Amino acid sequence: MRFNSIVILTGAGLSAESGLGTFRAKDGLWTRFNLDEVATPEGFARNPAKVHEFYNLRRGWLKEARPNAAHYALARLEQEHRGEVLTVTQNIDALHEAAGTRNLIHMHGELGKALCARCGASLTWEGDLSIETPCPACGGTGAMRPDVVWFGEMPREMDRIYEALAACDLFISIGTSGAVYPAADFVAEARASGAHTVELNLEPSDGASHFAEAIYGPATEIVSAYVASLLR
Ligand SMILES: [Zn+2]
Repeated sequence: MRFNSIVILTGAGLSAESGLGTFRAKDGLWTRFNLDEVATPEGFARNPAKVHEFYNLRRGWLKEARPNAAHYALARLEQEHRGEVLTVTQNIDALHEAAGTRNLIHMHGELGKALCARCGASLTWEGDLSIETPCPACGGTGAMRPDVVWFGEMPREMDRIYEALAACDLFISIGTSGAVYPAADFVAEARASGAHTVELNLEPSDGASHFAEAIYGPATEIVSAYVASLLR
């Protein structure tokens, strides 16, 4: 085994082949909603009903999505690698868990959870949310929101992520644009601690030049092959 401690960062490209990457085309969702409206605290304050509608639709589609070969390959890596494997995902779907990954950080939150802004409770949530939804923990209404990280909000568990980046000897970035911070800086953090760095993506990301190694192609093909090479 060449590597001891592995950190994996995953993004939208990983779930694209699970039917979740086609939102832009599907039902013209992105022509009816824009990111400023549905992915910022200000947008939620202005029009909570519209934001709830957007996430209710996406939460409904989650039920149709299934992990693909790349999710399963990463779960297998965690199970069979004789060392540490931490998966950090920017995705708010639950496909890593569904494939069997256990050591996982959802740095941008989870679509399958609701957060009460009044009492701070984070609750598993399968149905719809509205401005009338009462919080099961404190009973208050008007404060329930998707438990996801919006633009301008702090991503989750950053201390644990930077600790793992400082200790890893292999950093793998999969299906990310390399354009969203702070995740776009993880490769530099890993390099600074002497780790080997690999980008697995459909095409070179904005941060491609920062990686020591790169493999391009559909995630379901290149991730499975790369994991097989690590476990050989
Ligand atoms: Zn509450």
